[in-house]
Amino acid sequence: MSADTNLMPIPGPVDPVPVPRAAPVRADGRVELVGLSREAIRDALGAAGMDVRQAKLRAKQLWHWIYNRGVTDFALMTDIAKAQQPWLAERFSISRPGVVEAQVSTDGTRKWLLKTDDGHEFEAVFIPDADRGTLCVSSQVGCTLNCRFCHTGTMRLVRNLEPHEIVGQVMLARDALGEWPSQPEGRMLTNIVMMGMGEPLYNFDNVRDALKIVMDGDGLGLSKRRITLSTSGVVPMMARAGEEIGVNLAVSLHAVTKEIRDEIVPLNRKYGIEELLQACANYPGANNARRITFEYVMLRDKNDSDEHARELVRLIRHYRLPAKVNLIPFNPWPGAPYECSTDERIRAFSNIIFEAGISAPVRTPRGRDIDAACGQLKTAAEKRSRAALDREQAA
Ligand code: SAH
Ligand code: SF4
Repeated sequence: MSADTNLMPIPGPVDPVPVPRAAPVRADGRVELVGLSREAIRDALGAAGMDVRQAKLRAKQLWHWIYNRGVTDFALMTDIAKAQQPWLAERFSISRPGVVEAQVSTDGTRKWLLKTDDGHEFEAVFIPDADRGTLCVSSQVGCTLNCRFCHTGTMRLVRNLEPHEIVGQVMLARDALGEWPSQPEGRMLTNIVMMGMGEPLYNFDNVRDALKIVMDGDGLGLSKRRITLSTSGVVPMMARAGEEIGVNLAVSLHAVTKEIRDEIVPLNRKYGIEELLQACANYPGANNARRITFEYVMLRDKNDSDEHARELVRLIRHYRLPAKVNLIPFNPWPGAPYECSTDERIRAFSNIIFEAGISAPVRTPRGRDIDAACGQLKTAAEKRSRAALDREQAA
């Protein structure tokens, strides 16, 4: 059964776009190979007329060229007969998302504004650190969930990204960092977080298929221990995420009372805190060595009191969760209805959790100067159209 979470009605201050548009077939009629499993590549070759035995061998070779070597041109595939290369090129493509703009922050963070073939913009962010490099990957164009503190949630257009558009973000970052062929040692891009635009568990099948390719040992070769999927709490999909994808889980908790979470994460009206934490307790693969990360955005005078911190500790203990807490200073955007908590407040909040024996680091915002920090992702086109709307309204 395919996970048709696309059409779930979500209560919230703004009605979600009910039916995300399907990704169109390529205008030139060619089949995109990126994002397909080995078997699907083999079947696509067969459907184009290649005989079964050859298709199996070619699929294996193509997989290696695409995911291990990063090659996008069939003419460079030296173990495929010269005469067959144009035959492949006519029928298939190996592409990357279009790059509208690539920016580099003063702190080394990179942001790519990307575009799908049908003209929708989305973003990916690379955050280099001393001992690792993390790519923040988007799962949707926009997001239907309308969390009140999140800029992405205000985008009007929403479409699920296809597997090739999700894997494509990783491949494009590898291109930019010069990290082909895939090698286990000395990489800059070591970790992936599904924390860009969109709710990954509302695009389950595509995210799973994409991450399977990212984790394939003969492909991009990133371990599931270095991949984290962040959800705002799509409870019915969490067990499947653990079973079928098996990556680390991060949960955007952000509040410990129904009243406050209902306000800032409207999905809470559908799946409440108790249900969510129970699903975390049952998450396959979570244990003390692989903890669940609870993300908590620090909103001034909203969710940041000592009492809230103590309640958070109580909940974690009550559900016996192998947990760490990530405190995220709120990143403001124009027109946002909240402010960030003060530094002292964040420190006091963190101390209470820390003193209960739970790790609670405060995340340093990265790439703020290029609007690359958490929750700031919203494409320039959307900002422009918003500005245009405001002008129309003012006129
Ligand atoms: N939709 C998923 C993943 C993308 S959001 C989710 O909500 O978990 C990644 C993280 O950034 C989430 O924890 C989200 O709540 C947080 N975030 C969103 N807007 C933010 C903002 N303005 N400041 C700080 N963090 C924000
Ligand atoms: Fe969507 Fe996550 Fe933003 Fe909420 S925080 S609107 S779920 S991207």
